[in-house]
Amino acid sequence: MDGGDPVARLFHLQSSGAAARRATFGLTERRAALARLADAIRARQAEIVAALATDFGKPEAEVVLTEILPLLQEIAHTSRHLGRWMRPRRVRAGLSAFGTSAQIVTEPKGTCLIIAPWNYPLNLALGPLISCLAAGNSAILKPSELTPATSALIADIVAETFANDLVAVVEGGKEVAEALLALPFDHIFFTGSPEVGSRVMAAAAKTLASVTLELGGKSPCIIGPGADLAQAAKWIAFGKFTNAGQTCIAPDHVLVHASVAAPFKAALRHAINRLYPGGLASPDLTLVINDRHAQRLTHLLGEALDMGARLVTGGPSRGRRILPTVIEAVTPEMGLDRDEIFGPILPLLIYDDLPDALARIAARPKPLALYMFEKDRGLVEQVIAGSTSGSVGVNLTMLQFSHPFLPFGGVNRSGLGAAHGQWGFRAFSHEKAVLRNRFSPVPLLFPPYTARVRRLIAL
Ligand code: NAD
Repeated sequence: MDGGDPVARLFHLQSSGAAARRATFGLTERRAALARLADAIRARQAEIVAALATDFGKPEAEVVLTEILPLLQEIAHTSRHLGRWMRPRRVRAGLSAFGTSAQIVTEPKGTCLIIAPWNYPLNLALGPLISCLAAGNSAILKPSELTPATSALIADIVAETFANDLVAVVEGGKEVAEALLALPFDHIFFTGSPEVGSRVMAAAAKTLASVTLELGGKSPCIIGPGADLAQAAKWIAFGKFTNAGQTCIAPDHVLVHASVAAPFKAALRHAINRLYPGGLASPDLTLVINDRHAQRLTHLLGEALDMGARLVTGGPSRGRRILPTVIEAVTPEMGLDRDEIFGPILPLLIYDDLPDALARIAARPKPLALYMFEKDRGLVEQVIAGSTSGSVGVNLTMLQFSHPFLPFGGVNRSGLGAAHGQWGFRAFSHEKAVLRNRFSPVPLLFPPYTARVRRLIAL
């Protein structure tokens, strides 16, 4: 390892302290570290709001609801339950291990790398850090280069709150991430796109670091024939247009039953007008992250319209402020149908029977989230049992992310492993099997294997 490279030096500083940390970073110290982080977030709330406004015009209420409160809730939940999560668990001794006692002891993995995306740049950087510290690890955190104001603020908050042998921030883009990935971390927690996630896993294969991958994809939303259409429209408009659709669990597209397609369209137009009454001037519209992504979205929309798709509401906009847009008659040749949209454009697709809708979902990679709006519980159960996804939201969108007792994660191309609460703690922990011999050795184990022993084990 290059001792002159500051990133490698930081890694060595943290990893050389790992053994000592096992003895000194117990429940009290971990809770104190989390409390310091909560205090820092509260104290710097105004700066956080300003940084997110600079990076992508996020409205203050949205910053508080989606970036700050979820972190404070995660810290409170983790601190409350950490003692129980850390406690060794006794398990039964089977007959074959008669005379022993068995335990699962949870230990920190060691030195961890957290790589975060830009779309909820504070929440998705500090959220995994909460679990990482709760599990007793040190961390190097690399926030996204696409949100420079927030990333600089995260670096500042971390430097003020933690010694760098416990937590350090390294800013930069792809090259910095690749340099970090070459180091032998004990665990890598990555949030971002499936394409980069696959590169992270390939890099981890070289050092055999364990990985948690929180990825994305096209999350479908099904409207059943018995859905409450006004409620469905409101939840979908909220889930899709919050943060300008730049949310990993936003509904990517809607599959609506043919019998309710027309009234659902009307309900959706109404809901969008209620949520964003000023159109492009609405103060609650977030900007698209940068010009490149705005051009990508404008291109996807323009291409679909050129190929015969029709606007239901919204439409082409200029610059990074994009109108909430709903579009129909989208076909498989269009980019909108192929790629994760990750912006405020919502295709409406029509289906005639549920097995057909489920087959269309199954033909794509397994999604991070799947939503179903329907009052008939039988149909809902049919969807839950007949599909695979990281999570399912029934008659709601997005809320599954912040439920403290639910794991959050994807499956295969939408992710590997889970985050939040006890699942986050476990992602950053090794569960060590401990078996103690309480009195005599297990009698049949040792030679000489006499005729009596051979008879007892039925040879
Ligand atoms: P991204 O994959 O482009 O970047 C994520 C991070 O990886 C950034 O910090 C970036 O600097 C770094 N990176 C870039 N190239 C790298 C490389 N070659 N090796 C290692 N690291 C590299 O993702 P993004 O554009 O920031 O975020 C959008 C994607 O993230 C979407 O697909 C979205 O669905 C997904 N996402 C998932 C979750 C989740 O919790 N599952 C949450 C938010 C976003």
